[in-house]
Amino acid sequence: MEAGPSWNFDAVPTTYKCDLCLEHKTQALVQLNNTAAICKPCFITDLRPKFEAAKANEHFWPVTFGTRLHPSSFPEFFTEDFIADYTEKEKEYTTAIGKRVYCAAPEMAHTSVQPKRRRSTPSKASVSAMTTSVALPVFCQSN
Ligand SMILES: [Zn+2]
Repeated sequence: MEAGPSWNFDAVPTTYKCDLCLEHKTQALVQLNNTAAICKPCFITDLRPKFEAAKANEHFWPVTFGTRLHPSSFPEFFTEDFIADYTEKEKEYTTAIGKRVYCAAPEMAHTSVQPKRRRSTPSKASVSAMTTSVALPVFCQSN
């Protein structure tokens, strides 16, 4: 049996440039949109907290990186609960303030609205956001 060619172009690692930390990575990037892709560590340490902040506080919404981003585009990094909650909050944020309807007791008015159990351990920031929002009325979408 003859030895194969010593040149093996497949062995040359492909590198990807992260649009956030600007480092070249051998691991495939997370494609954010048509123009931007970032590495997983950047997504976890930089972008994911922005989604968490946006869900907790309208002031931090929307999350953008060239274009507006939604966590449902990145199911690898978010629980289904988070994506559902974020989608609900986005409905609230995109409703004109004068047209928002808040319900004091959503479980009585809307049987479909149930408090959700959190699967992940909340960070200190989100704990304070949750405790301060407990007494607030809950947004109910209406037409
Ligand atoms: Zn990066």
